[in-house]
Amino acid sequence: MQAETIVGKFGDKDESFGPSGFLELGGNTLVVDFGNILMSDTVVGFLYEDGHLKIMGASQKDSQELRVIDDLEACVFRGIDSRGLELVLPLTQEGGPTGDLYYNEIQYLVINGRVSTAEHELVGIMDDNLNLAVRDHYTRTPFRRVDENNMLSFYFDGATSAGKAIKKDFLKPLYRRDKPYFENEIIRYFQDFDKLGVQQKKYVLDSLGIWAKSGLLQVVRKSEGNCAMGNVKHGAAGVTRVRTGMVDLDAAEFDRDIDLFKRFGALASVSSPFPPHVEVRVNLVVSHEFGHQLQFCLSQASQDRIADLYQGRLTRSRRTNPAPNGYEGRSELLRPENVMSRLFISGYSATSKEEYWAEAVAAFSVPESRKILNDMDPAICQILTEILYHPEQHLSAVLVEPILDLQASLRAGKALPEDLLTC
Ligand SMILES: [Zn+2]
Repeated sequence: MQAETIVGKFGDKDESFGPSGFLELGGNTLVVDFGNILMSDTVVGFLYEDGHLKIMGASQKDSQELRVIDDLEACVFRGIDSRGLELVLPLTQEGGPTGDLYYNEIQYLVINGRVSTAEHELVGIMDDNLNLAVRDHYTRTPFRRVDENNMLSFYFDGATSAGKAIKKDFLKPLYRRDKPYFENEIIRYFQDFDKLGVQQKKYVLDSLGIWAKSGLLQVVRKSEGNCAMGNVKHGAAGVTRVRTGMVDLDAAEFDRDIDLFKRFGALASVSSPFPPHVEVRVNLVVSHEFGHQLQFCLSQASQDRIADLYQGRLTRSRRTNPAPNGYEGRSELLRPENVMSRLFISGYSATSKEEYWAEAVAAFSVPESRKILNDMDPAICQILTEILYHPEQHLSAVLVEPILDLQASLRAGKALPEDLLTC
């Protein structure tokens, strides 16, 4: 019997979720190669990573029958799943519940505590108390426990390993089932979001979209605080309180930013008191203030790297774009012909390493200005990209496990898009 014919019979889709390792079956130790169970180089069956298997039998019907590993006596698999993560089947001695799980409205099958897709991809494990842990291929952690902080909407209906009917319907307080995770998180972060107008809502959702989808907004909010419309006395568009990390936005300035955003896009060149010099501004106050909160959550090493990038640019800026006579501010003011060759994404970025970072976060938040920032300052864009995809490289130590737990849960609920920066 040729392996190819078997693969063909089981279908290409199945093939991708076949594990590799050794299967103890009926006193024999068999090699499993990407799901194909081999006996002396002959394929005698197929094992899926969720513990389903097919054993070639006398008839076609026997060969197609789907069994579960728990039902075969003294049958144990040890090895790795289709993506190289450690796997032992059955997952536990005690077994677990069986039934239907809807996680973030995604349907999964649960068999003896193993949570999987219809294509037999193993997604997680659940015990008889319906505690869920999810596979994390990103950090190669076999299972990460999902707690109430990072659990998405959860609905299970089935029976425990002892055969007792069990049901659980969990939704985080204030969570709206009709809205996706990222929107729920933005609503939670931005106080009185419901009172905003249509245009304002869209602006806030666009500004914070990538941060919310990646889970960073949730982790940063828990660490630093949320964002409220207030009345910022000293006229800035927003302020992030250093001690509490809470953001206050000035209502009038917020509207002005939205108006500028609508008219000119994310970046605008505005006149300065020193004509013909102009100043570039980023019209994204919400993500700017979030940027300050995010900075408080970074490791010292990452903050030092940002400070170095800032110093390097400042030195070059002072040389190529010297301040006009009489100007005492610290913004980068530009002769009109130098706008395209400026050193900072905005004039305000030049004022301190904190504002340099916050303006970079702001510009990075929407595709239009992200592209310009990437051309102008690829090093800061690299840090920003790494924060989204590899947060453990930049977040302070205490936040690393929380963000990795959350991202694993979001992946299990298909709430974390792979292509965050292109959508
Ligand atoms: Zn600022």
